[in-house]
Amino acid sequence: MTELSFRLKDLENKDRHIDCALSATLISDALADLEVDAAQSGLHLRAEVSRHNVTVLCDGKLTGKLSLPCQRCLAPATVVVDQRMHTVFVPPTSALAKHDDEAAGEDGVDDVDDLDYAHHNGETVELLPILREYIILSVPITVYCQEDCRGLCPLCGADKNQGDCACQPVGKLSPLSALRDVKL
Ligand SMILES: [Zn+2]
Ligand SMILES: [Zn+2]
Repeated sequence: MTELSFRLKDLENKDRHIDCALSATLISDALADLEVDAAQSGLHLRAEVSRHNVTVLCDGKLTGKLSLPCQRCLAPATVVVDQRMHTVFVPPTSALAKHDDEAAGEDGVDDVDDLDYAHHNGETVELLPILREYIILSVPITVYCQEDCRGLCPLCGADKNQGDCACQPVGKLSPLSALRDVKL
């Protein structure tokens, strides 16, 4: 795999192009919690790394597909990835620039803005840590095998996409009917 760390010295007057496929190991490491099927997934990184005085800009795109379990029926679901990547690396002593609304509160909230800025260590820029974050960011909140996936039956676990199971639909229990039963 193409190297993902660059020495600031080597970036002087010379931009770097990254055009490489990400390894299955990197994908499965980043998305281990989501039970990604790395063998059926593939991500490609195209980016420019350029130095501007003491800062380094990484600007590019993460494209490809991920195979993740459907959140309703657990069958493999394919997610198309088209994730913009844009991070400015600032010197180790610089405070990371924060947006005004973030400074107002809501600390600890992970959002896209967290990836706008990162630190280099004064000598090298490491892309791997932020790349992992972008991989995580590229996963949508809902992952379904198909838009109208019917999911699994909560009683017998049958995949309702394959047809209806024999379970009786659960009747509506009103609080009043429960009370009536207690009194009887
Ligand atoms: Zn499904
Ligand atoms: Zn059932």
